[in-house]
Amino acid sequence: MNNNLTQRLRSCTTLPTLPTIAIKIIDLANDPDADINKACQYIALDPALTAKILKTANSPIYKSRRSATNVRQAVSILGTHAVTVIALSFSLANSLIKQSGKYHAAFDNNNFWRRSITTALASRALGIKAGLITLDDLFLAGLLQDIGILAFSAMMPQEYFEVYSSAANHDELLQKERITFDIGHDELGHALLKKWHLPDYIALACLTSHSQPPPNEIGPTIPACVAVSRHVADYFLDPGDAGNITAATEAAKKWLNLDSIALMDVIDNMATELVEVEELFEITIHQPDEISAIMAEAKELLTIQSLSKVRELEEKSQHDGLTGARNRAYFDETLQREFYLSSQHALPLTIAMIDLDHFKKINDTFGHMAGDALLIATVRTIIGQVRHDDTLCRYGGEEFALVLPGTTLSAARKLLARLKESIAAIAHQLDDGRVVKVTASIGVVANMDGNVKFEFPEDIVKAADSALYAAKHAGRNQIIEWNNSLPTFN
Ligand code: GH3
Ligand code: MG
Ligand code: MG
Repeated sequence: MNNNLTQRLRSCTTLPTLPTIAIKIIDLANDPDADINKACQYIALDPALTAKILKTANSPIYKSRRSATNVRQAVSILGTHAVTVIALSFSLANSLIKQSGKYHAAFDNNNFWRRSITTALASRALGIKAGLITLDDLFLAGLLQDIGILAFSAMMPQEYFEVYSSAANHDELLQKERITFDIGHDELGHALLKKWHLPDYIALACLTSHSQPPPNEIGPTIPACVAVSRHVADYFLDPGDAGNITAATEAAKKWLNLDSIALMDVIDNMATELVEVEELFEITIHQPDEISAIMAEAKELLTIQSLSKVRELEEKSQHDGLTGARNRAYFDETLQREFYLSSQHALPLTIAMIDLDHFKKINDTFGHMAGDALLIATVRTIIGQVRHDDTLCRYGGEEFALVLPGTTLSAARKLLARLKESIAAIAHQLDDGRVVKVTASIGVVANMDGNVKFEFPEDIVKAADSALYAAKHAGRNQIIEWNNSLPTFN
C-alpha cells in the first residue's frame, strides 16, 4: 500500500499543479550558483509576488534600515537564497491555497492553511531562539510539513475526508492515516515535495516532522525545529488544551534544548510577527484580542512549569545520589531550623547519629558493591519506620543522622532500639550465595528534654557524636544516650 500510494502520486493528475513561476524558483533554489539576475527576472514576472517580496523585505520581521523599492534591492537586503526561498513560500502557498479549496466540499481549507502558516511561524521563531540563521528555509520547511494532507485530499477526496474528519487531533490523524492507508501525511508529503523537486533538506524535514528528528551532534537543525514546531502550533491554535503546552515544552527541551522560558520567547515572537504574516498570506490566524489572551495564558502555564522544574532540581540537590537519603547540606539546614524551633518554643528535639560497624572490613571482604547495597538497604529500613516529619540524612560515608522533631529521648528510645534490630536483621545475599550482614552503633541526644538545653545547633551534633563514640568504644551494635560526663570532641 505504502509503495502503491507513492507510485500513484507520481502519476496522479488531480494533484495541485505548480505555477510556472514556482517551478522556475524551485530550480533556482536547487542551484547553489543561483544567478541574482535570473531570480529578479522570474519574480518580476509576477507582480503580486513582487509586491509580497518587497513587503517582506521592508517588514519589521527583517528589521532592515534600508527600504527596498524593487526586487533587486530586496535581494541585496535579504540575499539571493532568502529571496528565492521566500518567493517559493508565497508562490506555493498562493497557488495551493486556491487549488485546495476544491478537493472536498467539507475539507477545511482555511483551517489547513491557518495551521500550516502557524507551523511555519513557529519553525522560524524556534530557529531564532535556537540560534539558526536559515530562518527563511525554516519558514518554508515549517509551511510544507503537512503538505501530505493536501496530497491525500487531492488523490482520494472522499476516502481521506472520512479519516480526516474523524480524527480528534493531529496525532490521531497521523495514526489513522497509517492504519487506513499504511502511510502518513509526513511520508506522502515527502514524496510530493520530491516529485516537485523541492530542495532535499525541505523534503527531508517534512519526512521527519512528525517523529523524532534525526540526531545531530552539531546542535539545532532545520528538522529539529520543524518537529518541535507542530507542537508549538498546536498550542498556539488551541491554547485551551493543557496537553498541548506540555507536549510543546517536552519537544522543545528534548530536541532543541530550549527550556520553558525560551519557549515563552518563541511564543512571544510568534505573536509579534503574526499580524505581518497574516497580512502577507492573507489569512487570519487569530483575532487581536484572542492573541493577548493566549499570551497571558501561555505566560502563566510556562511560569508554573518552570517553577516545578526549579522544585524538581531543588529536590535532586537535597538527596544523596546513592541511597536517596537527604544529603549533608539538607541536614545542616534542617538542623538549624529545627534547633531554632525547639529552643524558641521549648519543644523537644532528638538527634541520633547512626554509624555502621566495621564497614571498612565489610567492603574489604565482600567488595564495594556489597557495601553500597548495605547502605541502600539501611536507608530503606530506617525510612520505612520513621514518621513523615523525621529526616534521615547521609552525614558521611557510612554514617547517618536522624532528626526527630517534637520527640523526647524516651519516645526515641523505642524507635532507635527497633531500628538497631532491623539493621542487624538485614541480610544481603551475594551472587555466589554468601550473605552479608551489618550492625550499627547509635549515639543519641535530645534538646529541650528534662533540663537538657544546648546553646548552638553544633553543640547537639557534638553531643550525639560523643555518644556514638562511646557506643563504638563499648563494643558496637548498641545505643548510648548522651550525658554530660561523656567527653566531647571538636
Ligand atoms: P567503625 O565500626 O569504627 O565505624 O569502623 P568502620 O570500618 O565502619 O569505620 P571507618 O570510618 O574506618 O570506615 C568507614 C568505611 O566506609 C570506609 C569507607 O570505604 C566505607 N565507605 C564510605 N562510603 C562508602 C560508600 O559509599 N560505599 C561503600 N561501599 N563504602 C563506603
Ligand atoms: Mg563505621
Ligand atoms: Mg564512620
